[in-house]
This record gives sequence, C-alpha cells and structure tokens, in this order.
Amino acid sequence: MADYTLDTEIKYLKGVGENRAKILGSELQLTSVFDLIYYFPFRHVDRSKLFRIADIPHTDALIQFKGKITEFKETQLTNRTLLTAIVADDSGTIEIVWFAAHSWVKRSYRTNVEYLFFGKPNVFNRKVSVVHPEIEPIENYYKKHNFTFAPIYRIPDKIKKSSISTKTIQSLVEQAMEIAQGKIVDFYTPQFLAKHTLMPLPEALKNIHFPGNHEMLALAENRLKFDELFLLQLDLMRQFKLRKEKIDGIVMPAVGRFFNTFYHHKLPFTLTGAQKRVVREIFENIKNGEQMNRLLQGDVGSGKTLVALLSSLLAADNGFQSCLMAPTEILAKQHFASITKMLGDMDFRVEILTGSTKKKDRKGLFEDLAAGRVHLIIGTHALIEDPVVFENLGLVVVDEQHRFGVAQRAKLWKKGQQTPHVLVVTATPIPRTLAMTLYGDLDISIIDELPPGRKPIRTVHYYDTKREKLYDFMKEQIALGRQVYIVFPLITESENFDYQNLEEGYERVTANFGRDNVVMVHGKMKPDEKNAAMQRFVNNEAQIMVATTVIEVGVDVPNASIMVIESAERFGLSQLHQLRGRVGRGAEQSYCILLTSYKLSADSRKRMNIITSTNDGFVIAEEDLKIRGYGDIEGTRQSGLPFELKIASIGRDHSVLEYARKVANAMIEDDPMLSKPEHQALRQFIRKRLKDSVHWGMIS
Ligand code: ADP
Ligand code: MG
Repeated sequence: MADYTLDTEIKYLKGVGENRAKILGSELQLTSVFDLIYYFPFRHVDRSKLFRIADIPHTDALIQFKGKITEFKETQLTNRTLLTAIVADDSGTIEIVWFAAHSWVKRSYRTNVEYLFFGKPNVFNRKVSVVHPEIEPIENYYKKHNFTFAPIYRIPDKIKKSSISTKTIQSLVEQAMEIAQGKIVDFYTPQFLAKHTLMPLPEALKNIHFPGNHEMLALAENRLKFDELFLLQLDLMRQFKLRKEKIDGIVMPAVGRFFNTFYHHKLPFTLTGAQKRVVREIFENIKNGEQMNRLLQGDVGSGKTLVALLSSLLAADNGFQSCLMAPTEILAKQHFASITKMLGDMDFRVEILTGSTKKKDRKGLFEDLAAGRVHLIIGTHALIEDPVVFENLGLVVVDEQHRFGVAQRAKLWKKGQQTPHVLVVTATPIPRTLAMTLYGDLDISIIDELPPGRKPIRTVHYYDTKREKLYDFMKEQIALGRQVYIVFPLITESENFDYQNLEEGYERVTANFGRDNVVMVHGKMKPDEKNAAMQRFVNNEAQIMVATTVIEVGVDVPNASIMVIESAERFGLSQLHQLRGRVGRGAEQSYCILLTSYKLSADSRKRMNIITSTNDGFVIAEEDLKIRGYGDIEGTRQSGLPFELKIASIGRDHSVLEYARKVANAMIEDDPMLSKPEHQALRQFIRKRLKDSVHWGMIS
C-alpha cells in the first residue's frame, strides 16, 4: 500500500479483483482511488443510536435496532412468495420482509439469536415493517467502530447482483482514505479557506464519508457543494470572458433601410416595452464587435419571433445573412408564413428549407444562399446539412433550444467565415438566478410583457366524469366558429399503452363530433400524414385536433380557442403552461380545460390549483421548481454543464450558489486566466474534473 497513489486503480484494493473492478468502472464510473474518494454517500446512519422496537419511528429514515428472530413465515401471493420474520425485543415486535433470496436468508440467520438490524421502516396496513434490512452479528454493536455515522452509498440494483453492497463501497472508501492520507492537497490557499469559512479539503473528504458528528458532516457538505458550484461558475465565467475577448464578433453598427422600412411602414402594431428593451439589448451587443451569445426568454405569445425578425433586419442592414432554425417543419412553415406576411412587398428575401424541400428547388436555393441573394433562411435540421453554404452568415436564431443539441449548433456556426451572432429563443421561462447559472455562458434577455389587448385565457379544472358537459361546451364554441385541441399525455413514445389512450379518445370524440371534423396527430405518424392532418386543422377543414404533445412545440392557429388536456395530472406545470399557450392567440376569449380523474395526489391537486390561478409563465416556473426541485431543468441542461454535479443541487443549494457566484466573479475579475501562483492548484484541479467532458465553451 505504501506506494499507492490517488491514481492507483481500484482493482489493486483488497476485495476487488478484475471482475468487480470492471463492474465498478462501467456502472459507477469508479476506476481510481481518487474516484472512490469522490463517490459521496447519499446518507448516513447513526450507529450510536439504537431504537427499541416499540419506539421505531414511522419515517423513512434509516434506523438501527436489535432483536431476536422468533419465527420465519412464508406467504404465497398471486405471483410471488414473501418471506417474513418476526423480530422481538423486550418492548415489542416488528416484521421483516424479503421478496427474494429466501433460502439464503434462512440459511444465514437463525431464530432466537440476537442480531443487529439496519433498515428503513415502512408502514403498510397500519403495521410497521422493514424490507430487506442489513443484518449484522450483535457483537458489531459493542465493537469499537472506526466511525459512528455509517455512510450509505447508492448502489444500482444491477450491481447488487454482483454482491457489491454499500458495505463493499464502505470498505473500499476506507482503504482509499488511508491511501489518500497526506496526499490530498487543498487547491485553496489558507487565506481563502479562512475568508470563506470553508473546511479544508482533506478534512472535508474524510468527513463526508465518515463524519465525526452532525456539525462536521454539515461543514464537509458545505465545503464540497461550494467547490462544485464555485468551479462550475468559475468555468462558465471564464469561458464567457474568453469568448468576449478572443472571438471577434461581426460588427453591425448600422440601423438602415431594412429595419427602418419595416419598423415605420410594415409593423402592424407598436412593440411592447419589453420588446423594445430587448431589441435595444441585442443592438447594443452586436454594434461594436462583440460576438453575441444571447438567450431570449419569454412566455408563449410574447412576441419573440418578431424580435428575431427585427434582429435579422439589422443583420441585413449591415450586409449579413441570417438563419432561423425551428425544431419542426410545421413550425418552420409557420414562421415563414407569418414573417413573409408581415414583410409584405419589402425587398428582403426570405426562403425556407426543410426536409421536404424538393431537390430541384434546393439547387437554386443553395446557389442563392451562397451568392448572398437570400437575406433570411428559415428551416429545420436541413439547414445543418453540408451543401448549405452562406455568403456571409451573420446571425443564427435557434428557436426552442431544448430540442437542439450543442453539436448541431456548433455545426451551424461553422457555416460562417466569422462566428455569427447567436440568439437562442426559448419559451420555457426559467427564474433569473437559475438561468444565470445554467446559462452562465450566455447573456440573457427577457420579454416579460404580453402584447396589449390579449384576453387572459380562462383555465378550469374538471373531473373527467364531466366530459359530457365539456362536449356540450365544445359544440357551442364550434358553432361559433372556433377550433379545439384535445391533448393526451404520452410518457414514452414506445408505450403502446399510451397510444391506446389516444385512440380511445379519438374514437370517443369522433363518435360525438363526426369523423370529418376531427384530425389525429401523434409522434408515430409518418411526417407526410402528420403534416397533412395538421394542415387540415390549420385550414379549418377540421375543427378538432386530437393529439399527443407533438403540438407542444408550437403550431399557431389563432382561431383555436379551446385547449382540452386529458389526464392533466400526468403533465408537469411547465408543460401544462406550454400547452395552454397554444390558445389565446386570437381576438376571442380562450379556454383551457384540464381533465383529471377524481383521485388526485396532493401534488397533482396543487398543480391544478396553480395552473388555474395564474397565466404568468415565470410564476409557474417558480412554483414548478418548488414542487419538482430543479431536477428536470438541471437534467436537460446537465449535458451542457462542464461537469456533473455530484453533491450540490442548483435548486436546493441556493444560498451556496449565490455565495459561490460572488466569489467566482471576484476571482475572474482579479485573475481571468487563473495564472497567478496562488491559483495554480485550483487550475489543475479544474482540469482533472473536466478531463472526460466535452467542453461546452469550446463549441461557441
Ligand atoms: P412567441 O414567438 O413569443 O410565442 P410570436 O412572436 O409568435 O410570439 O407572437 C405571437 C403573436 O403576437 C403573433 O401573432 C404576433 O404577430 C403578435 N405580436 C407580437 N408582438 C406584438 C405586439 N407588440 N403587439 C401586438 N401583437 C404582437
Ligand atoms: Mg414563437
């Protein structure tokens, strides 16, 4: 062991071997001593505390108790056998349950012998039981332990089969900590640690696994969370600054005839205050040689597309082409239609390119693009394909960015001689503080105001037993000339079960409204069929569209004024809000009707209450984050982060995050390249953590 280092592979540790090493590597990404030290437990069990059986709390906290097994019982259920044991101490009894490994259990533990049990109590049928506890000889309780709080590690079921348990990891981490003795060097200076009251790294790593007490654990957690959030922001800020300094943005100082003609003679309404502000922010950004990388957030219908058009007019005034990428063909077509309509007879040439653009049309289009005869091209993925060459691409607008991968965007950047300005448009509002972290490498603009005169959408919640009443209401509205969306949830596109729901719904609707008046659209349809169905709805040949969430990304049918959401309890708040945004675009009063079953969980009921009580996307986003935690948003963005967060949560660790941002900001101001001697260790550590990740910053 003497010459082992932090880089020693774990197969050399006691109790590992080639086989387990392979599994630990592939399933938990644990290959070295260093990795083990950074494999943090997700909780600890207090081994000093022993519960009397009668006092076992009805919570899901891990607890420890002792007792004798008085009997084993096997119960035959419909599809499996249950093994239970009754464990008794002098205060009472408790049931232990196993779903598997019955013969092994009966061989390993004897009745009337005292054991030590660890597990999570469950309440079922008003009886407390513990499922699959860990069982140890009672001597272990009296033995002196290395640690009072035993770390519990996350072990995927898949590797439990290879008999890798939390105890296996415990023993490996113990060995790793021993090897690491004296080899872990803090990458902060003592002054830095003192100034920010951070626990030194060797102590923090020891205490995160084997804490001396609650306070030490809290300090260790704080230090390691700070590290992650600080390094994350340091990296994003550094990239941000580097880009600003290194990449010469295309200079676009002119406001010329394209912009002015449109603004003064074509724009059919005045811009909202928020739109004006955002256009100004964009112009300030592009006029003096800085490369723009900007996130434009705004609720559905807040007029983001118009801002995108205005930006491309500015680009044209400076002699540059623009492209607008939409996530679907339908959306691309809609943008094309609404933009050409607004432009009227202006000599600003807009073209469209999608997967279904005909070959013979493509050739001419490609030539015109390469010769700079097209000012704005609107399209889908097809724009990324190789034959597309611009004369001078100056602005890229990416709509609904969640649907576009980083790599795809990178490909598009390359199509200009100089890095074009980039505007990412999203209708999923994210609270500002969160956005600043997740998108720390982007500037942010927010449209927080809807165009005037919009009638707020009326949202109501019905139990699905009231469907008859809903149909009556739909009939009234259709008679008035309106159109209706009916949306069904889809968990995964592969689950036939979900389509069955949709098909049943379709049958029910057609039985009431006639086949000719209803179209169905879902993700499994061929693109042609889907487009044809959508088109029938857009043309008002059909008054009802029954769909899965394919419509979520934004068809624009101003005449559609009713959104019915079936099984609304199965949607998240943000999704409900997005769906609702499909209506309320015309002059008529619009409605959103949420149908749920009578049985609702507390969370679902809360979601229904929130969505029926506000139309403000930012409020909904905040509430959504409170209910769900930041998991989903982090998840979507996670792949774009320079490294995975193991212990910190951008949502829950708000105060650490805020603090870390301030500290990171100050450090970047002081030493942007981290080239000062006191920052060398930090720089090295960042490199180590980033070793395997695609680097976000390199792409733009
Ligand atoms: P978003 O892309 O943010 O969902 P759009 O740009 O598609 O919103 O705008 C939604 C609708 O509102 C469009 O029909 C658009 O013409 C209209 N609109 C945009 N800005 C204004 C404004 N300032 N005043 C009135 N209507 C507007
Ligand atoms: Mg839009």
